[in-house]
Amino acid sequence: MYEDLKNRVAVITGGSKGIGTAISERFGKEHMSVVINYNSDAKGAQEAADKVEQNGGKAVIVQANVATEEGNNALLKAAVDNFGDLDVWVNNAGMEIKSPTHELSLEDWNRVISIDQTGVFLGSKTALNYFKEHGKKGNIINMSSVHEQIPWPTFSSYAAAKGGVKMFTKTIAMEYAKDGVRVNAIGPGAINTPINAKKFADKEQYDQTVSMVPMDRIGKPEEVAAGAAWLASDESSYVTGVTLFIDGGMTLYPAFMNGQG
Ligand code: NAD
Repeated sequence: MYEDLKNRVAVITGGSKGIGTAISERFGKEHMSVVINYNSDAKGAQEAADKVEQNGGKAVIVQANVATEEGNNALLKAAVDNFGDLDVWVNNAGMEIKSPTHELSLEDWNRVISIDQTGVFLGSKTALNYFKEHGKKGNIINMSSVHEQIPWPTFSSYAAAKGGVKMFTKTIAMEYAKDGVRVNAIGPGAINTPINAKKFADKEQYDQTVSMVPMDRIGKPEEVAAGAAWLASDESSYVTGVTLFIDGGMTLYPAFMNGQG
């Protein structure tokens, strides 16, 4: 628990399942007030909100498409209308489309980029405007991926978006550092969430993924949420512009594990 997080107001995009739900629940444990965004799964978002309240926080759910300015404005409005302020904005919503790049349609490329990259820009811009206007030393956390660093054949749109999120995070961290605004990214490895449900249901693919993790296991959404709570808190007060990898060592070049090469 981080005492300073108590009563702070957070927006979490894509909070109806997976990592976004885990961050909401963790922020609830920190007794924060949380705007939980969902795109289509109102039931999942409501369950997450109920958990936040059971954990001692406050929550409202808001439908919004993060790829739009209206959607992000609606999230800010919900934070201000319901909780009177904004302290932390977590750009978590994301999706991926698998396709050999030479067959990837422009439509699918644009879908991934609009949510995973443009959504992060729009959410950050919305939060930054509020922080500027109110002279707030706010906090932005962007959900990147190990694929901001590790190339991922047949997922080029996703890797391009996450690579973009990495440099966008570093750039705005520098741009707003003098305002006291901190901006960081989290780079999860293989985490057990609905985005991986189909893959992990197949034992061969599950084992193959585990084999790429030095710690020899898949990560839990709560382990990513713990990183988000630390980055949101004053305990990380001198940290800005980093990507915190939460990946069991996946970015450590595991192919070299036994001294090969
Ligand atoms: P998930 O599919 O379980 O959840 C993604 C969430 O984003 C869902 O709630 C979905 O509704 C929401 N979303 C998608 N499009 C949206 C839109 N246009 N507007 C609003 N919300 C939208 O996936 P997850 O694993 O929880 O992923 C969360 C984030 O973590 C994503 O950015 C993902 O790229 C990243 N990530 C996940 C993993 C992993 O292994 N699970 C690894 C690296 C990075």
